[in-house]
Amino acid sequence: MEKIKMSTPIVEMDGDEMTRILWKMIKDELILPFVDLKTEYYDLGLEHRDATADQVTRDAAEATKRLGVAVKCATITPNKQRMSEYNLHEMWKSPNGTIRSILDGTVFRAPITIPTIKPVVKNWEKPITIARHAYGDVYKSVEIRVEEAGTAKLVFEGESGKREEVEIHRFKGPGVLQGMHNVDKSIKSFAHSCFKYAIDTKQDVWFSTKDTISKKYDGQFRAIFDEVFAEYKEEFERLGITYFYTLIDDAVARVIRSKGGYIWACKNYDGDVMSDMVSTAFGSLAMMTSVLVSPEGNYEYEAAHGTVTRHYYKYLAGEETSTNPMATIFAWTGAFRKRGEKDNLPELQRFADLLEQACLDTLNEGIATKDLVGLMEGITPQQVNSLDFIRAIRTRLEKKL
Ligand code: NAP
Ligand code: MG
Repeated sequence: MEKIKMSTPIVEMDGDEMTRILWKMIKDELILPFVDLKTEYYDLGLEHRDATADQVTRDAAEATKRLGVAVKCATITPNKQRMSEYNLHEMWKSPNGTIRSILDGTVFRAPITIPTIKPVVKNWEKPITIARHAYGDVYKSVEIRVEEAGTAKLVFEGESGKREEVEIHRFKGPGVLQGMHNVDKSIKSFAHSCFKYAIDTKQDVWFSTKDTISKKYDGQFRAIFDEVFAEYKEEFERLGITYFYTLIDDAVARVIRSKGGYIWACKNYDGDVMSDMVSTAFGSLAMMTSVLVSPEGNYEYEAAHGTVTRHYYKYLAGEETSTNPMATIFAWTGAFRKRGEKDNLPELQRFADLLEQACLDTLNEGIATKDLVGLMEGITPQQVNSLDFIRAIRTRLEKKL
């Protein structure tokens, strides 16, 4: 078979620990034999980030802006313990945070679903994608512990000399205070990313806030979404998809009663909480995909899980591991499909579809990694190690190609 051709490279960001091991297995078994792979390779493994004073992470993000499509392996976010483990020069920031701040995007998380793993919510038939706004609100707030009686005020001093002041509360005794903010620019790019992703995946968008209570703050989120949607309305109508706004509490009730199959856009805190709820209800962290979409239409695909450290130490000790590569494989297929779409390469898009289908066939035949074996219903699963799982996918992929 002749290998599938690519024209523009994908930005490839390698990573750490068990996912770095899986990364190589996936490339060797499922990609390199079939695709004439073109990537711009950046080693985001912690040693190389440390050796380059984290420049490699910034370069990889800049390359994503230039080339438009990236695929990323999970990476360690250093903490104190990692400082000594890797003898680091500095406690480097989370690569995902660095990349997100350079690309200025929204993260979309969607589960890979299969018939033998039933969501906890019985009526969910299709995946629910959470789009979390990743700037501001309580994550950038300032706080005061009030110790005595007194008056708290919210003050804005404009560069023009304009001054606005409102009383927050007259404390009769001790209490707490918090000040938070957001900016129109970030809310706008959040809205653009959501509508672009909806068009890409042909799904409805639900957006929820508490604008009945927070009339100016959440009201501004709602107003910006309405304004930005005007630019996408025609395309939505053409595709038969809709934009729907509702209050957050109403959204929660509707999500539970729904069949799934839409994008739920959430403010920062709501997205933090709801994405953990939705992903847990769908089954396994190892089956959760993640993509960062920038307002300019650049895409970075990855798995939602981390580097699976516990399995890595077993692997280093020579023990057999059964780590699930699904979300990492789907990061690659997401990148191939997008690259194929941008460069008009139908063969590459078809390869992405067939590889995903081969993965799903393997699971549907009951061949699975350890994390899924206990979740499967109506089938007697056969537990395999990571490499055998990937090889079982390869056999099915070869037949399809
Ligand atoms: P994790 O790597 O997601 O793993 C947590 C646990 O979830 C694992 O121990 C394992 O459970 C299960 N799990 C996750 N992915 C799995 C898979 N593919 N197959 C099978 N089981 C899987 O989270 P963590 O242990 O909290 O973090 C480890 C490192 O990853 C940290 O250094 C953190 O900074 C980094 N991290 C990176 C990213 C990213 O790059 N996007 C995201 C999160 C965390 P069992 O051990 O019970 O089998
Ligand atoms: Mg959280």
